[in-house]
Amino acid sequence: MADFSSLGLSEWLIKQCRQLGISKPTPVQENCLPAILEGRDCLGCAKTGSGKTAAFVLPVLQKLSEDPYGIFCLVLSPTRELAYQIAEQFRVLGKPLGLRDCIIVGGMDMVTQALALSKKPHVVVATPGRLADHIRSSNTFSMSKIQFLILDEADRLLEQGSTDFTKDLEVILGVLPAKRQTLLFSATLTDTLQQLKSIAMNKPFFWESKSETRTVEELDQRYILTPEKVKDAYLVHLIQKFTDEHDDWSLIIFTNTCKSCQILTMMLRELNFPTISLHSMMKQKQRFSNLAMFKSSVYKILIATDVAARGLDIPTVQVVINHNTPGLPKTYIHRVGRTARAGKNGVSITLVTQYDIHLVHSIEEQIQTKMKEYPVVEKEVLKILTQVNVTRRECEIKLEATDFDEKKEINKRKQLILEGKDPELEAKRKAELEKIRAQKKKFKEKIQHNIQQEKKRRKRHIQKKSEQAVK
Ligand code: AMP
Repeated sequence: MADFSSLGLSEWLIKQCRQLGISKPTPVQENCLPAILEGRDCLGCAKTGSGKTAAFVLPVLQKLSEDPYGIFCLVLSPTRELAYQIAEQFRVLGKPLGLRDCIIVGGMDMVTQALALSKKPHVVVATPGRLADHIRSSNTFSMSKIQFLILDEADRLLEQGSTDFTKDLEVILGVLPAKRQTLLFSATLTDTLQQLKSIAMNKPFFWESKSETRTVEELDQRYILTPEKVKDAYLVHLIQKFTDEHDDWSLIIFTNTCKSCQILTMMLRELNFPTISLHSMMKQKQRFSNLAMFKSSVYKILIATDVAARGLDIPTVQVVINHNTPGLPKTYIHRVGRTARAGKNGVSITLVTQYDIHLVHSIEEQIQTKMKEYPVVEKEVLKILTQVNVTRRECEIKLEATDFDEKKEINKRKQLILEGKDPELEAKRKAELEKIRAQKKKFKEKIQHNIQQEKKRRKRHIQKKSEQAVK
């Protein structure tokens, strides 16, 4: 097995790694590091928690030490929390260089960020939306000389979806030099490979972990089949079980909406579990502070939406519970990848209702692993069912009394304004679209009705004819 020096890494970086307990390269590092040091573009597809960040941070730092200037490297991340985590790795490993980094993410003060950018930091770690805003609105910094562009969780950054990064990426790519090294990393790169190859044009080196499965062996993947109404009781039962059986534990519960995240947090707190939440309707400062409290084990339970599904590296997480079955296998892969990291063991438990079974099948097909049923004593769950459901209902009523839904509406409006759209016009447009859709539906129903009538009429006609023929 190769060591860092045979991969071409400098002594000072090897020493720095050793201080962090990193002594041997992981496969993604062993394979991608030499190619990056050689000056090639790189697409790295490795399982969650397998050291992807160091696989790009180390070679960038080495190249930076040979020719230090700012802005040398730009890293893009789909989430703000992940951007902070990446910047931290740069800072820790690059300490001997006196590395200057700068984090540019939404929800934080723009003026402070603009000032930091104008000071030519060596490395900028950013989320696309906020960086594009700076590029559009300011000429106090230049990215025309960067050596490295890195897209972490590249498939997410390039995917077209509700948070569409494409326009922002276009703005960013427009100010970067064509001559640069582009590095793309993710645990789920293969789906969008062609698109990725068009961004990394410099004969990219492609590396994918060879294993057939897409999740790590150290992860014990389980499911519980449950009716929707009993889901929360199962959740509470599982948490109680982990609390009773382990001293040192922490767990992440993933759910599909901000509101559900909020209600579950309230419910678990009401039931005296040390719970904290992370979702996009929270103020950014609160998001960072909650994550920090979870990382330092002040709170043992984090309830999160998919904003926490990618990249976050919290070694104490032993359990991931999917309160809802993810609709996309790749969302599942990233969620459960928050545990069993860097060779440690972990468990994931997915709560599955009868409507989600097809989703489980497509997840299993993707990960090439069969999930096993998690054994539960149902009697124990039924004992707490009423109390849990009543507590949940109380929390729902409490939340309804707040302006949570209203805030969501305001956030939507703010987003539209930021995108340069008029919320009133958008609302009118939406209403008109809905009206057209309703008309279309009505029209379709009418046609269906007419067809049915016509069929019946013909049937009656044929019947009558054949009766006459018999007579
Ligand atoms: P990542 O996949 O980059 O989020 O890394 C997951 C975890 O593995 C982090 O806590 C890293 O510090 C750790 N790590 C990275 N490289 C190595 C290595 N070569 N040996 C042991 N741990 C590592």
